[in-house]
Amino acid sequence: MDNRARNLRELAIEKLKSEQEINSYKSNLDLKTLIEELSIYQIELEHQNQELISSQNELQNSINRYIDLFDNAPIGYLIVDIDGVIKDINETACILFGSTKSQLKNIKISKLIQPDYQDIYYLYFKRLVSQKYSQTCDIKLQKSDNSFFFARIQGIRQLQLNVDIPEFRLAVIDISIQKEMELKLLLAKEKAEENDKLKSAFLANMSHEIRTPMNGILGFAELLRKPTLTENNRVEYINIIKKSSVRLLELINELIDISKIESGQMQIKLSTVNVFDTLNDVLSFLLPEAKSKNIDFVFDYSNINDPLNIETDKEKLYAIVLNLIKNALKYTNKGHIKIDCYYVDNKLKIYIRDTGIGIPEDKFDLVFKRFRQVEETGFHEGAGLGLSIVLGLLKLLGGDIRFASIVNKGSIFYFSLPCTIVKPILKNTVTNSNDLELDLSHVSILIAEDDYSSYYYATELLSNTNAKMSYVENGIQLMDYLNNAIPDLILLDINMPLKNGYECLKEIKQRNIKTKIIALTAYAMNDEKKLLFKFGCDGYISKPYTQCDLFVEIDKVLTDCLK
Ligand code: ADP
Repeated sequence: MDNRARNLRELAIEKLKSEQEINSYKSNLDLKTLIEELSIYQIELEHQNQELISSQNELQNSINRYIDLFDNAPIGYLIVDIDGVIKDINETACILFGSTKSQLKNIKISKLIQPDYQDIYYLYFKRLVSQKYSQTCDIKLQKSDNSFFFARIQGIRQLQLNVDIPEFRLAVIDISIQKEMELKLLLAKEKAEENDKLKSAFLANMSHEIRTPMNGILGFAELLRKPTLTENNRVEYINIIKKSSVRLLELINELIDISKIESGQMQIKLSTVNVFDTLNDVLSFLLPEAKSKNIDFVFDYSNINDPLNIETDKEKLYAIVLNLIKNALKYTNKGHIKIDCYYVDNKLKIYIRDTGIGIPEDKFDLVFKRFRQVEETGFHEGAGLGLSIVLGLLKLLGGDIRFASIVNKGSIFYFSLPCTIVKPILKNTVTNSNDLELDLSHVSILIAEDDYSSYYYATELLSNTNAKMSYVENGIQLMDYLNNAIPDLILLDINMPLKNGYECLKEIKQRNIKTKIIALTAYAMNDEKKLLFKFGCDGYISKPYTQCDLFVEIDKVLTDCLK
């Protein structure tokens, strides 16, 4: 209060104290002056009041501006106390967290941090408390719907007015897109580096794998010209040329397989496969080589009593087992190779153990990579494709492969393949079609097939079953036939003219015709099989098929019918 104001106040107080005194002043000059002074003071007060109102407005404006700036800033802001409790938070941060102010205020900031990043945040906060300058850290934050986003937090310690304890201002920026880009770049870089290595390995391997057999072929073909050649030499040279050609052919096949797998063109052809027969076929094929290396095959059947008939792709299972046992043989110089086989949890599980050179742990990552070999300097025969193909085929069939290995002790490769067991209800379950028997004397079968040779093939296979057989050659004929008679079983070619198999299936379902249907198709993809079953098929055979495939499927379908 300035002096003038103080004087005026004192005068006013005195005036109030003594009314009479004031009255005695009434005619006084002093009184006049006092009234004048008061009037001036009143005007001044009014001015001051105006100023106060306008500065109050200004203050309110700047508060509003501050709130607007704070709330609608392009980045999230939080004010956190020394215990990590959120004291204030702006709208942008609320949007980032998908919550409201009231939900976020007064909770601990650690509740918004993804569990894996709690330690990082703890260290960051320690830094914030101890440092004068702003501190940054990248962290994963948790939204109210439990999803996460990557954020960059930039914070600074701030002393509060009249209080000794600091508070912390944190700016939060969503950097998920940057992080995603960073990750993509990192992956691209890793991929580019990997491709570079791959290219070198590919060139080195191909050059070695093509030149070696070519050398054998060209060199010994030249030697065959020698007029002085003995009969023994001739036979030996021809054998070498043959062996080299086979090796070259294997390489070409491997290259085709891997390209097919990688371009998604490898098709699945399901049929009933006897696992023991497949394993035996592979072992007999490799036996001469095993004998020449003095290595025993130990194949333990004892885990399963029944003959193991499963539904899978026969060729692919053969290729998988062949590659694995061939590798075991290639990388084993003494001892044995043991094969175990189980069917558990609807999966075929095969274990191949060897007593070979093993794989060093730091090379584990390489073995399933294309063209890569553990010993990339001292060449082993092989292009580094075998295991990539095995992995690709297993993935295609929904399976999985793992391995364990100890250097100089040996390796174990084991894979699992989801598959169903096909219950052998046939009188004879051997896969040799000459031994099969199936009595269908009370069964009528309609073959719907446009290709005469395919029809003829099916009738030949069924000739000894005593089934009553009929034939239609397109979809329209089939539907007409069903107007007059309903067979027990239809062998339905899917790719028929006029009305294809799917259309017939649809109509059969609509007309509620009760018959069993086995679809015959040449496009044996897994999806197609599912689709056919969805359309109402009871069984499914992919072409080309054997008598065993046909009998097993018929047996399955008709047995289901009796249930
Ligand atoms: P390759 O044609 O070179 O055998 P693969 O893809 O089949 O190619 O195997 C990749 C690499 O994994 C091989 O070069 C070899 O170093 C290693 N490997 C595979 N199987 C075995 C095994 N049973 N014992 C030791 N090493 C193995």
